[in-house]
Amino acid sequence: MAYDVVVIGSGPGGYSAAVRAGQYGLKTALIEKQPRLGGTCLLVGCIPTKTLLHTADVWDYFKHASENGIECKDPQLNYPQVLDRKNKIVTKHSKGIEFLMRKNKVDVIKGFARLLGGGRIEVDGEKGKQTVEAKNIILATGSEARMLPGLQPDAKLILTNIEILDLTSVPSTLGIIGAGAVGMEFASIYNRFGSKVTVLEMLPRVVPAEDEEVSKELEKYFKKTGIRVETGAKAENIRRNESSVSLTVTLANGNKEEMEFEKLLIAVGRRPNTENLGLENTKVELDRGFVKVDGRQRTGEPGVYAIGDIVGGTPQLAHVATAEGMVAVGDIAGKPRPPINRNRIPGATYTEPGIGSVGLTEAQARAQGFQVKVGKFPFAGDSKATILGMHEGFVKVVSDAKHGEILGVHIIGPEAFELIGEAVAAMEAEATVDTLMHTIHAHPTLYEAVGEAFNAVEGLAINI
Ligand SMILES: Cc1cc2nc3c(=O)[nH]c(=O)nc-3n(C[C@H](O)[C@H](O)[C@H](O)COP(=O)(O)OP(=O)(O)OC[C@H]3O[C@@H](n4cnc5c(N)ncnc54)[C@H](O)[C@@H]3O)c2cc1C
Repeated sequence: MAYDVVVIGSGPGGYSAAVRAGQYGLKTALIEKQPRLGGTCLLVGCIPTKTLLHTADVWDYFKHASENGIECKDPQLNYPQVLDRKNKIVTKHSKGIEFLMRKNKVDVIKGFARLLGGGRIEVDGEKGKQTVEAKNIILATGSEARMLPGLQPDAKLILTNIEILDLTSVPSTLGIIGAGAVGMEFASIYNRFGSKVTVLEMLPRVVPAEDEEVSKELEKYFKKTGIRVETGAKAENIRRNESSVSLTVTLANGNKEEMEFEKLLIAVGRRPNTENLGLENTKVELDRGFVKVDGRQRTGEPGVYAIGDIVGGTPQLAHVATAEGMVAVGDIAGKPRPPINRNRIPGATYTEPGIGSVGLTEAQARAQGFQVKVGKFPFAGDSKATILGMHEGFVKVVSDAKHGEILGVHIIGPEAFELIGEAVAAMEAEATVDTLMHTIHAHPTLYEAVGEAFNAVEGLAINI
């Protein structure tokens, strides 16, 4: 008998969609080629990196304990223990997803899925090949690290997010090509673990998707903490030595420099997993490898939906994959949900200091012709930030002067990725600058800085 829904891929997009389909009483199966459920996010992305970043935070506390009047004699970083904790968290959550599948009566089929056309899917698994039939298919096959031309990762010298997470010791020097969220997060982790870190970025600024002022602030802080950051830099001629990697870097000023690192991380973006998926047997359309979908996540092939990192036009983030899954299943179940609004997607980069952002940057708002009014409040004026000893960064509100519409909010500073939640909810509820100015913020908290940034739009911030 045909399933109502077959989901291919068990990342945050796929497993959440399968749960929701189960909740709606649809006969559902989830196909996954890896032995464990969870996809990139759980196994080699969001969760292991944030676990390491938390350890880096704890390690920072120990290093600065004396500032709080606590003497810690000779604290040590036990790296195998750090990895063990990370691995246990990943395993626990992967088992959690298995539990969710059982709870929601979702059949899990292990193997590589390929579309045969007409709602049929071939699954090549441990027990050989089988064909599964589905009334609806949700493609959620995710992405993998892009490589530089001619380069292949290995477990020893040239790494992607997968290999770096299994290093058994902290490298003395780490080169990172790419200053997007992934590259900058690993820089933040390993710098604090004691590596000498160099970040090389071809574009003129780090975290290029963020507001320009946020990029500047992060670069300034990274440099202050000893990370070498070279923007406008081109890495070429990458060579593996016995126990190091050499490369030639053309710096922004045109000078060439030979660099050598114990390990080199390539973090130059992610390519969608749409190869060998049998898409040629369907009318699914691609645009530079990404699947084209409409506002209901429908592809060109009737009954075939696509969500998450394989979809073009939305950022490659776990919560986007999940939200798109809800839209797809809502459509299948006849319980439609609004399409994804690109301007209401929070971005979160878990560096130290962190970044949380939503909506238009100042430059984007100006380019779209808005009469832009900006409010900015630095964490230096926030008493909770003083208590935490984290004064870096600011909250920046981009608004439309005409109607007080909130166009974007950009936060860099302590817990920025948590603080952005208020701005996302405000924008979703179509609140105005005025509403946020009247919203009472508890004291002392970090989110007072958000309230003050809205006051600052009208030049009425109190604490600066
Ligand atoms: C280092 C790193 C850190 C990140 N941190 C964050 C973060 O903090 N927050 C955030 O929001 N995002 C983060 N991301 C991005 C996030 O991981 C992705 O956006 C998210 O995993 C995408 O989910 P997905 O469901 O589309 O696909 P994926 O999570 O990639 O899952 C796809 C699944 O499909 C399976 N699959 C593929 N092809 C087939 C096939 N033919 N048959 C069967 N199974 C198949 C794969 O094995 C995989 O399990 C991070 C990414 C990286 C690399």
